[in-house]
Amino acid sequence: MITQRLPHLIVTRGSDFAATQRSAAEAMALIETISPEIERHTAAVCIRCPAVCCLQKHSRYDLSDTIFLSAMGLPVPGDTPEIEESAPCRFLDASGCSLKRSLRPFRCTWFFCSPLLDHIVEQSSPPAYREFMRTLEKITETRIAMMRHFEEAEAKISAVCLQAQANNLLFY
Ligand code: SF4
Ligand code: SF4
Repeated sequence: MITQRLPHLIVTRGSDFAATQRSAAEAMALIETISPEIERHTAAVCIRCPAVCCLQKHSRYDLSDTIFLSAMGLPVPGDTPEIEESAPCRFLDASGCSLKRSLRPFRCTWFFCSPLLDHIVEQSSPPAYREFMRTLEKITETRIAMMRHFEEAEAKISAVCLQAQANNLLFY
């Protein structure tokens, strides 16, 4: 599977993935910048939640998460099919999520349920709310740019490999 080969590919072809790595680093810095503000609201809202959304099914790392962590040289937590999808997330502990925000699957940062969103709107001044939304948009744009850079680098590497194979065929 491509997701299993990604860390090795990015490490061995580091210079080809320089733009991917730059975007990943930028996204990571932005995620950590906005994290205290998100946590200010989750601390007030999630504590009263009757249906906590931190379920095992949300703990899976998708392709974008795998590229992000691999580009940062970080390990990617594997799947844990032995845990029921509807069970509490494997990263949840008594004080909440045990992972630093930028190490969580990205969905955990962009998902806002209605009560949480309402709380953010109520508790933020209009300029603070605009700034909050701008940072979220910037994170999303940066993650999209990271994916685009990754796909471009991967296509370039594939083209070089195909050319090398064609040259070998001609040689024989
Ligand atoms: S984000 Fe919303 S649904 Fe999830 S735990 Fe907090 S209040 Fe509940
Ligand atoms: S990784 Fe953390 S934030 Fe995401 S679902 Fe699990 S406990 Fe919740």
